[in-house]
Amino acid sequence: MSNAQPAEDKPLEAKSPFELRVSLGIGIPQNAVKTALTTGEMGFLHSFTTGSTVDGPGVRLVAWTAGCEWRCLYCHNPDTWSMINGLPVTLDHAIEEVAKYRHGLKIMSGGITISGGEPLLQDRFAVRLLTAAKAMGVHTAVETNGHLGDRLADEEIEQIDLVLLGLKTTPARHRHLTGKEMGPTLEFAQRLARLGRKIWVRFVLVPGLTDDPKNIEQIAKFAAKLGNVERVEVLPFHQMGRYKWKELGLNYTLENTGPPSSELVARACVQFRAEGLDAY
Ligand code: SF4
Repeated sequence: MSNAQPAEDKPLEAKSPFELRVSLGIGIPQNAVKTALTTGEMGFLHSFTTGSTVDGPGVRLVAWTAGCEWRCLYCHNPDTWSMINGLPVTLDHAIEEVAKYRHGLKIMSGGITISGGEPLLQDRFAVRLLTAAKAMGVHTAVETNGHLGDRLADEEIEQIDLVLLGLKTTPARHRHLTGKEMGPTLEFAQRLARLGRKIWVRFVLVPGLTDDPKNIEQIAKFAAKLGNVERVEVLPFHQMGRYKWKELGLNYTLENTGPPSSELVARACVQFRAEGLDAY
C-alpha cells in the first residue's frame, strides 16, 4: 500500500479510527501469533484512541483490535479485517496504557472500551485486559458483533460492565449483509440477558439496506424482549470508510448510497421507542 508506514514507525495512537493501517503485524512468526491468541500475552491492535465520547458512557480509552471474520457491506474499517494489519502489542503494554489514564477515565465517568475489528477473535487478550482494567476500578465495555460470545465463560462476562452489541439486521437478511448467520449473536444477547449484563444495541441505518420498517420492527421487538437493553444507538451510515475499500482493492457496493435523512433516523428511533426502548 502506498501510504503504509513500517510498523515500528506507527504510534499506537492513530490520528483517528479512520486512519488506514495495514501490514503492521507482518513478520511475526505464525507460531508467535498462535501463542498470542491462546494465551492473550499479546494482542494485535489497529490503534488506541483516547478521549472518545461515542464508544460507551463518559470519556473513554478505546483499544481497536485487528481481525474480523465478518464482511459487512457497510464496514467503515475493512483494514481491521486482517489480524496481521494490527500492531503487535504486549498485554503488559496495553495494561500500562489503561493505568496511565485510569484516574482521568474515572473522573470523566468513562472507562475502557475494546472494539474492532471483532475483539472476541482475540478473546484471551480482551478478557485479560478487561480484567486488569476492572481491578483498577475502571469501567469496562466491549463492542462486539457477538458471534464468538461462547468463547467467554460466565465469570469472564462478569468482567464486562457493558456490551455494545451490533444488531445489524434480521436473521433472514443477515448473511447477505455480513457474510455470516445471526444465530450466535442472538444467543449471546440472550445469554447476556440471563446473566444480567447491560447491553447498548448499535444499529447502523443504511438507506435501502437496513431501513425497511419491518426489519427495524423485528430487531426492536427482539431487543425489547431481552430486558437488559439500556439504550439503542441508531448510527447513520456514512462514507468515511469508502477510501479504505478502494485502497485495499475491495469491491464496495455502497458507492452510491447516501447517509439517511434526519427524518429516516427519527423514524427508526420512533420504531425502537415504540417497543419501550430508549433510542438515540
Ligand atoms: S463486524 Fe464490524 S469490523 Fe466486522 S465487518 Fe462488520 S462492521 Fe466491519
